[in-house]
Amino acid sequence: MDLALGERRLEKVDWLPMGIHILDAMSREGFEEVIGVHDRKSGLRALIAIHDTSAGPAFGGIRRWSYLSERAALMDCLRLARAMTYKCVLAGIPGGGAKAVVLDDPALDIEGAYRHLGKMVEGMNGRFYTGPDVGTDGTALDWLSAETSYVTRTGPEGPGDLGGATAAGAFAGIRAGLRHIDGEVDWSARKIVIQGLGEVGAKLASRLIEVGATVVGTDIDTDHGEAVARRLGFEFVEPSTEIQIECDVFAPCALGGILHDVTIERLRTRIVAGAANNVLAKNHHGDMLHGRGVLYLPDFVLNAGALIRGAFFHLENRIEPLEGIETRIESAVDEILTCSQSDGIPPFRVAISIAESRLAQRRGDA
Ligand code: NAD
Repeated sequence: MDLALGERRLEKVDWLPMGIHILDAMSREGFEEVIGVHDRKSGLRALIAIHDTSAGPAFGGIRRWSYLSERAALMDCLRLARAMTYKCVLAGIPGGGAKAVVLDDPALDIEGAYRHLGKMVEGMNGRFYTGPDVGTDGTALDWLSAETSYVTRTGPEGPGDLGGATAAGAFAGIRAGLRHIDGEVDWSARKIVIQGLGEVGAKLASRLIEVGATVVGTDIDTDHGEAVARRLGFEFVEPSTEIQIECDVFAPCALGGILHDVTIERLRTRIVAGAANNVLAKNHHGDMLHGRGVLYLPDFVLNAGALIRGAFFHLENRIEPLEGIETRIESAVDEILTCSQSDGIPPFRVAISIAESRLAQRRGDA
């Protein structure tokens, strides 16, 4: 052993970046475990956060992203894992939330990294089930599943069409929102604007057209978006014009953080309801929408379809049908909107408080 180096390591621990207080954050937010993963061979640097296993295993995909800092990666991991717990609790899934984030790097041996993570997940013996997320595609899932069975795959070996399951949940949420405001849903008189025509947005558009709604959509990949619109027969608009179109429902199905001071001013919709994660730039933007009379349905309730599919596939060895997903999400939205109306509290705050109180019951804290 290099004694000098050993001594230096013992004396100088100030290589740890200041300002990351993992244990504080964990106890404040009720996390069970946060694991740092480093693999010298592949260059993998990853974090796994297990938020809750009080009712069953924790579910959460792997996000591979070029984070600006380790702190940003940690915060994303914790935030996403906690949101997965909320999704599970509100959708009645006997399991909780987790997340893994891989700090992407041009030098990363991607296959080696996923294989290493797969071994880690296998070693957790079913306490953590993982799956797709941004940066983790079908090939990555194949590498993972070569090392562990605790992974949700997207192909024929998995629980079927995950994007379709998510779109079904978003559709059910939109239906519940419209019924709440109008008493009944007359699809032929309703206009829905979809931002993002990828896996989920295109399937949501297809479902809405099927029931007779008017759909308008956009995508920053205009070739792809125009092709989807042509195939399904709806109007495609230039990206960034969609936010100010007068409509009944604005459905974000692209990226998060799109609702903030500027965009909320421009919105001309009665309802915001879509699948994109974390659409509010900050929580107070949900209050702002509420104050302006726009019904904002929380993304973590509406986009639980794929999670429901994956969880029941692993826990009960069955594929939850789309109708089952719609029923679960629609009844969750109904409950949230009923409480929101009677208490005058924005739906996203009601959803968080229902999730927190059910979680406390699960954990025996209530
Ligand atoms: P995707 O990558 O297949 O599609 C996203 C689409 O949005 C792409 O076509 C992209 O070009 C477009 N886009 C990006 N920025 C845009 C912008 N500013 N304006 C217009 N279009 C833009 O992703 P997806 O699987 O369809 O997921 C959509 C959203 O739903 C994401 O936020 C995702 O995290 C969330 N979500 C997806 C699932 C699922 O089952 N796929 C589950 C839960 C949540």
